Amino acid sequence: MTLQAPRAGFRTRFAPAPTGHLHLGHAVNAVWVWGLAQAFDGRVLLRLEDHDRGRCRAEYETSILDDLDWLGLVPDGATTATFRTGPHAQRQSDNTARYDARLAALDARGLVYTCRCSRAEIASSVYPGTCRHTAVPAESTPARRVIMDGTAAESFDDLRLGTQSQDPMTQCGDLLVRDRAGNWTYQFAVVVDDLEQGIDLIIRGEDLLDSTGRQFRLAQLLGRDTMPSVLHHPLVSHPDGRKLSKSAGDTGLRELRAAGRSPAEVLGRAAHLGGLADSPRPIPASALGDLFRGA
Ligand code: GLU
Repeated sequence: MTLQAPRAGFRTRFAPAPTGHLHLGHAVNAVWVWGLAQAFDGRVLLRLEDHDRGRCRAEYETSILDDLDWLGLVPDGATTATFRTGPHAQRQSDNTARYDARLAALDARGLVYTCRCSRAEIASSVYPGTCRHTAVPAESTPARRVIMDGTAAESFDDLRLGTQSQDPMTQCGDLLVRDRAGNWTYQFAVVVDDLEQGIDLIIRGEDLLDSTGRQFRLAQLLGRDTMPSVLHHPLVSHPDGRKLSKSAGDTGLRELRAAGRSPAEVLGRAAHLGGLADSPRPIPASALGDLFRGA
């Protein structure tokens, strides 16, 4: 695999949503995140993406922290004893005042409108702008969209996939930033967090590639002048082609632990599934950087 090397000393994040337990798909992402950080002197922040208050559960958060601890993957500057609290583990639910302030700043510039369309009313995945020119009373719903007009498509260079070009207006239209239940959306929360937490390299699966153009446009509207570098890695599936999912018991980290697998065995299997190792030989957390040295 050929990769463009990231800038040494980068700052990235591991950002699971506590809406379920960790599975091998997360472990593959973790191998990329911590492996590249080891190889290129990068720093890893842990961000619990609990923006969807209806779906997040405290027990999942505890389970995610337990599994990371067990794997030996701790955020930069933390130890296994300290990483659950304080600056090493950021929670989106603690950031709502920042999201409010950022939305208010966009609103003051006329870039925000209230949207009362339900998901069922929007037939296409591209929002047609129905509420953009209608004076929907702000009190009628917490749902807000940000105007995504731009003069050109967003171009960026993915460290693995090369040059990409995405036009948010034809991909998604004006972006929903807060939904009808009052939840901040993933797209808005992640852009504010990446900006405010100084993230300059985003390492995530290819399923999120389509989100990058809209996130960059939103970041520009929020005043970010240098976009982060991005690397989207392959998603993994079972050897028989089935997609790994949280419901598949055989890929859950808790199940693998209960079956007696060691942390190094789980990381080695993840590296192999992710196409980073020829065989599923055990790899301890401290050696993940070897997978990327010379990349
Ligand atoms: N929270 C997202 C997930 O669990 C990751 C978001 C991101 O890396 O931008 O898939």
